[in-house]
Amino acid sequence: MQVSERVNNLAASATLAMSQKSAELKAQGVDVINLSVGEPDFPTPTHIKEAAKDAIDNNFTFYTPVAGYLSLRKAICEKLRRENGVEFAPEQIVVGNGAKQALCNVILATINPGDEVIIPTPAWVSYVEMVKLAEGKVVEIAAPIEQDFKITPAQLEAAITAKTRMVLLCSPSNPTGSVYTPDELQGLVNVLASHPEIIVMADEIYEHINFGAEICSLASFPELADRVVIINGVSKAYAMTGWRIGYCACPLPIAKAVNKLQGQYTSGASSIAQKAAEAAYTGSQECVETMRVAFERRRDLVVELAGQIPGLKVNKPQGAFYLFPEVSSFIGKSYDGKTIESSGDLALYLLSEAHVATVDGAAFCAPGYIRLSYATSDDNIREAMKRIADALAKLA
Ligand code: PMP
Ligand code: GLU
Repeated sequence: MQVSERVNNLAASATLAMSQKSAELKAQGVDVINLSVGEPDFPTPTHIKEAAKDAIDNNFTFYTPVAGYLSLRKAICEKLRRENGVEFAPEQIVVGNGAKQALCNVILATINPGDEVIIPTPAWVSYVEMVKLAEGKVVEIAAPIEQDFKITPAQLEAAITAKTRMVLLCSPSNPTGSVYTPDELQGLVNVLASHPEIIVMADEIYEHINFGAEICSLASFPELADRVVIINGVSKAYAMTGWRIGYCACPLPIAKAVNKLQGQYTSGASSIAQKAAEAAYTGSQECVETMRVAFERRRDLVVELAGQIPGLKVNKPQGAFYLFPEVSSFIGKSYDGKTIESSGDLALYLLSEAHVATVDGAAFCAPGYIRLSYATSDDNIREAMKRIADALAKLA
């Protein structure tokens, strides 16, 4: 059976693949610690789960409007006003099946074949593949650990061409945890100010998992008015990855295009999950802070432990729940007659030798690194880092 070239050209999601591999090993009885997939390890807060149960009992069981319930879109607008100081109307919001669909919707709705999309790297696994789906051209800007994984205004300016249609920024970042300060964002915005034709898409899904830096939405810069698209959702802030609710907040013409697209291939998102998301945005925000504090403590722990491992180069991430160590000092080393030839080999070695699942940096357009998700218990982090240290020490 032949499948389409479109799918043949697509890479499978490495984060999901590694997580699947780790689940399979676990099912075989291997004691694997999974630091591969990035999702909060907390259950969804009780008041949100209760809202979902109420939604079922109150018969929110019919098709939903393609863009999402008006009450949810109003709650999102209120969230954007309250937390980000920005004004969007409900017509500018389209709710989808997770931020992942929201991102892909906007890319498919705005990118023509050959259009260039600037993506700073390391970048989350799905961005490049989504642009490929739209037949756009990815223009990478590499920001290695030496620059704390953040691009400079000069790099941005140099990457812009007459074909640039979009710049995609993610802060706090997956996979690096780096967070742009308001001043650093202003530097990038100053460059974009003289390119008014470029759409700026800001993936702000980790905004609340932020350890000190001020939350600053790209939508709050007047220079970007009318062309900024905000991507966000409930997966990370409210520990709701399985509910699949995310949204784009965008200029009206983009929202209309996304609505048309989504109306043909998925319709409105789950009625029950939307009601739960509404409760997340309108209810007490205490749960968000409780989880943030736990992630900050784990960040400190993982940075301390990783910092003690000879050969690993680490920064101190300011947000999200990932550590992205540089591992090139291990490449070329061997164990048991097998040579580690890439960061991908190293991730596989850590899985087989240390029983710790990580993700190869190459999946994030950054070979020479691996990603560790520390959204797991303190005990798991301690044990995983000990195993990683022991396994790396065996390489010679
Ligand atoms: N953007 C980034 C940077 C992510 O890490 C994720 C998590 N997979 C998403 C978007 C998508 O999140 P979801 O679809 O669960 O809302
Ligand atoms: N954001 C998570 C990660 O990067 C979830 C998996 C995915 O959707 O890629 O691991």
